[in-house]
Amino acid sequence: MRLVLLGPPGAGKGTQAALLSDRCKIAHLSTGDMLRAARAAKTPVGLRAAEIMDRGDLVPDDVMIAIISDRIDEPDCANGFILDGFPRTIPQAEALERLLADRNIGLDAVVRIAVDEAILLDRIVKRAESGEGRADDKAETLKNRLDVFRKQTAPLIEFYSSRGVMREVDGMQSIEEVAASMDKALRVATT
Ligand code: AMP
Repeated sequence: MRLVLLGPPGAGKGTQAALLSDRCKIAHLSTGDMLRAARAAKTPVGLRAAEIMDRGDLVPDDVMIAIISDRIDEPDCANGFILDGFPRTIPQAEALERLLADRNIGLDAVVRIAVDEAILLDRIVKRAESGEGRADDKAETLKNRLDVFRKQTAPLIEFYSSRGVMREVDGMQSIEEVAASMDKALRVATT
């Protein structure tokens, strides 16, 4: 099974991707985690991405496409994978289509975790204030991350709807309820 999870920052993509990866025994590919690891290791990509991430902007498409292109060829992806945080722009989605077509594979589903953005902002601000948030959760970065999502990532909903792979779950439920809704959406998607 090959999936994409879509949703604004704070919607719970990372949490749901980790749960689904456990349940389905497929790889969890979080581009945010990969960039944070590259940053901690001070690799050239990590150092280049650091400032961009702190502003809440997007790392250039060519960098992200190269990372994903290498990653999906790793052996743990043979069974399938969940993309968490990629694609985030139309050019990334188009590149992903080409990457998959070159390997004679495709996406089974794109699941959108739909949330109320006002409630979301409140959630992330609280997380940042409590000191539990990541560095890129600073309040002034949040508005930018949400703006970037609206402008650059939200158009992917239409992109994938037109390809007939789009599913939606209500992200304003408990973690367990969202997980159950994902299972239901995916049963529909794969039968
Ligand atoms: P995330 O943990 O998915 O919210 O990602 C954290 C940050 O990493 C984002 O705010 C971006 O700066 C960067 N990032 C992660 N994935 C991508 C991507 N696919 N394209 C561009 N930037 C990304």
